[in-house]
Amino acid sequence: MATRTNRRNFFRAKFHIADVPRPPGAVEVSRFSGLCNGCGDCLDACPEGIIVKDEQGFAALDLKAGACSFCGDCIQACRTGALTEQARADWNWVARVQSGCLSLNAVACRTCQDFCDEAAIRFRLEPGGRARPLIDEDACSGCGACAAACPAGAIEFARMETNELEATA
Ligand code: SF4
Ligand code: SF4
Ligand code: SF4
Repeated sequence: MATRTNRRNFFRAKFHIADVPRPPGAVEVSRFSGLCNGCGDCLDACPEGIIVKDEQGFAALDLKAGACSFCGDCIQACRTGALTEQARADWNWVARVQSGCLSLNAVACRTCQDFCDEAAIRFRLEPGGRARPLIDEDACSGCGACAAACPAGAIEFARMETNELEATA
């Protein structure tokens, strides 16, 4: 059985795996694809119900469904080493506001700011009745409370160091 599992993981590791938000504690993405076997233990353990399986069956976060409390229950539930306490510090996702934001389009909205416990969002007034949400990336925990509350679905997540936008799974 162990041999079969190892072989399956070996072939799964060959697949490209998208670098999208995974549960906190997810190991580096290339290793994650070889360790996460899609068992669903973390999904069942998450009290917020925000862990889903992506198209390839790997555990991913749906931060539009709710906020992560960083409780660590998913890490405790993971038996394969795909989620570890040691890798927690590498979880570096931050919120990024997209062009569909109501406030950017002159429709009054401050919902994301209201839901941010880290006070990481402020607004800069712009011409035409618009206001631009600005994320303080040092303050943003990547919890997803803003994304879950956003009426326009206009908040995605990116790794802090890359500036590269990645849609949530
Ligand atoms: S840390 Fe807690 S709330 Fe966040 S994904 Fe894991 S189990 Fe869910
Ligand atoms: S909650 Fe969404 S639509 Fe409203 S200001 Fe924030 S990003 Fe824009
Ligand atoms: S992800 Fe969390 S901490 Fe970051 S801006 Fe949104 S609500 Fe605030």
